[in-house]
Amino acid sequence: MNPAKDKITLIGSGLTGPLLAISLVKRGFPVELYERRPDMRRVHISAGRSINLALSTRGIHALQEADVFDDIRKIIIPMRGRMMHAVNGELTFMPYGKDETEVINAVSRAELNMALMNAAEAHGVPIHFKRRCTGFDLRSGTVYLRSHDTGPRMTVETDVAIATDGAVSAIRTEMLKLPRFNFSQQYLDYGYKELTIPAGPGGKHVFETHALHIWPRGTFMLIALPNIDGTFGCILFLPFEGEASFGALDTPAKVEAFFQAQFPDALALMPDLTENFFANPTGAMVTIKCSPWHVDGKALLLGDAAHAIVPFFGQGMNCAFEDCTYFLELLDRLGPDWPRLFAEFEKLRKNDTDAIADLAIENFIEMRDRVADPHFLFRKKVELELEKKYPGTFVPKYAMVTFHRTPYSVAASRGAIQDRMLGELCDSVQRVEDIDWNKADRLVHRELTPLAGV
Ligand SMILES: Cc1cc2nc3c(=O)[nH]c(=O)nc-3n(C[C@H](O)[C@H](O)[C@H](O)COP(=O)(O)OP(=O)(O)OC[C@H]3O[C@@H](n4cnc5c(N)ncnc54)[C@H](O)[C@@H]3O)c2cc1C
Repeated sequence: MNPAKDKITLIGSGLTGPLLAISLVKRGFPVELYERRPDMRRVHISAGRSINLALSTRGIHALQEADVFDDIRKIIIPMRGRMMHAVNGELTFMPYGKDETEVINAVSRAELNMALMNAAEAHGVPIHFKRRCTGFDLRSGTVYLRSHDTGPRMTVETDVAIATDGAVSAIRTEMLKLPRFNFSQQYLDYGYKELTIPAGPGGKHVFETHALHIWPRGTFMLIALPNIDGTFGCILFLPFEGEASFGALDTPAKVEAFFQAQFPDALALMPDLTENFFANPTGAMVTIKCSPWHVDGKALLLGDAAHAIVPFFGQGMNCAFEDCTYFLELLDRLGPDWPRLFAEFEKLRKNDTDAIADLAIENFIEMRDRVADPHFLFRKKVELELEKKYPGTFVPKYAMVTFHRTPYSVAASRGAIQDRMLGELCDSVQRVEDIDWNKADRLVHRELTPLAGV
C-alpha cells in the first residue's frame, strides 16, 4: 500500500460523491468521479429539478468539514417549523425546535448538486459524465463503464472503488453475487410526485417563506418547501392504488377535482397543476438494508448505496453526508488501511443507519396521520417544555435526529423512553398548565438522568 497515493474511484456524482471527493483529494489521494447522467450544469434535466431537500445539522457539519458550507449557505432557506394547512384553509404553525436556532434548511437538490460538483472540480477532481458503471471486478479492482447505454465498454483500474451511486447501486448489484451477502428492500405502497407552486408577484413566495408547508390528510399528504427563486417545490405523497391514489387520478379533471377537495388553497396557486402532474414521473420509496458494505479493501458502499431510507425524517442526504464525517475521521485515525477502515466504518455506522431507516418509516405515519391531531400537537408543546426544564437531558427525538449529532440509534432508544414518559404525563390532560411537573421530575430523574447526556 502506498499511503495517500492509492487511486480512489467514486461511482456516482450525486450529492455525496463530490462531497467525499473534495475531502479525499485534500488528503492527497488521486480521485476520479464517474457519473451516469449528463452534466446538469450544461444540459437541462427536468426530473428532480424542482425537488428540494431539508438540510440539517449532520449535513451542515459534513459540509463545514469540507469547507464548502459558506457557498451552500447562499442557496438555503431556513424553515422554522411546519405550517399545517387544513382543508378550510386554516393554518397552524408548529415550531421544529426550542428557539430560532433550531431550524431545518430547504435547498434545491439540483443547486446543491451543482455547487458540490463545482467545488469538487475546483479542487481538481475530474468528473466523467455519461459514464454508467455496469460492473466491478471485486478481485482485480476493475470498474466497467459504458459511455451510453449502448456505447462501447470501458474499463478503469483502481485501488479502491467507493460506491456513491445511490439506491440503485451498480457496485451493490455486483456484491449481491457474493456468498452470504445480506440484502433487503422494502417498498412503501406510496409513491411521490414533484409539483411546483410558482412565485407570486415580484418573485415573492405565496405562502410563509420560513416554513415547511404540509397538507396532512390521513392517508396522504402534500408538502411544499421554499426555493430561493420564490417558488415552492411540492411533493404529493399518495398510495399507488386505491380510492385516493395515483392509480385513480388518471385524467386532468380527476386531478383537479381531487386538489379542489383536498388542497384548495394550493390549487388556487398552481396554474400548471395538471400539466405538471402528467409530465412528472411517479417515484417509489424504498428502504434498503444490506451487509457487508465492503469487499476486502477493494470496494465500499456509502450513502444511499449502503442504506437508502424513505424521506420522511428528511435524513437520507444528512445521513449520507454524516457517513463522510465518520469515514474521514477513521481515515485520519487509521490511515489508508482500507480493509480495516471499511470494516470499522460499517461497524460504527450500521446500527445507526438501521435506526434512522426505522425512524423514517415511523415519521411517515406521524406526518401523514398525526400532525393534524390536537393531542399530538399538545404532546409536542409538552416536549418543548420538558426540554426547557431539563436541557441536555430531555431532548425531543426530532431534535436529537435533526439538531444534534446524537447517534441515530441513541436517538431512537432515548426517544422511545421519552415517548412512554409523554404518554404517562399527557394522556389524561389537555393543557400544559395541568401537567403534573412533580411526576415529570421523578420520571426524568429515574429514566433519563442515569443515561449519558445528549
Ligand atoms: C422525494 C425525496 C425527498 C427527499 N428529501 C430529503 C430531505 O429532505 N433531506 C434529506 O436529507 N434527504 C432527503 N432525501 C434523500 C436523499 O435524496 C438521498 O438520501 C441522497 O440523495 C443520497 O445521496 P447519495 O449521494 O447517496 O445518492 P444520490 O444523490 O442519489 O446520487 C447517486 C448518483 O449516482 C449516479 N449513478 C447511479 N447509478 C450509477 C451508475 N451505475 N454509474 C454511474 N453513476 C450512477 C446517479 O445518477 C446519481 O447522480 C429525499 C429523497 C427523496 C426520494
